[in-house]
Amino acid sequence: MTVRKIACRACHGTGMLSDDEGWQYTCSVCHGNGIENRVASNRNVRIMEVDENNRLLD
Ligand SMILES: [Zn+2]
Repeated sequence: MTVRKIACRACHGTGMLSDDEGWQYTCSVCHGNGIENRVASNRNVRIMEVDENNRLLD
């Protein structure tokens, strides 16, 4: 495993999400690659930066 790639928290690295009815669709956070990208979504930049700083050290 590499420590520089962060598994997407929205889809847990699978690249897919499912809703309550079981429909699966491509994760909109990581665009289906399962890896978080800090520049993927501007609205999440602040939150993601905080999470990285706090959680990567766990
Ligand atoms: Zn994802």
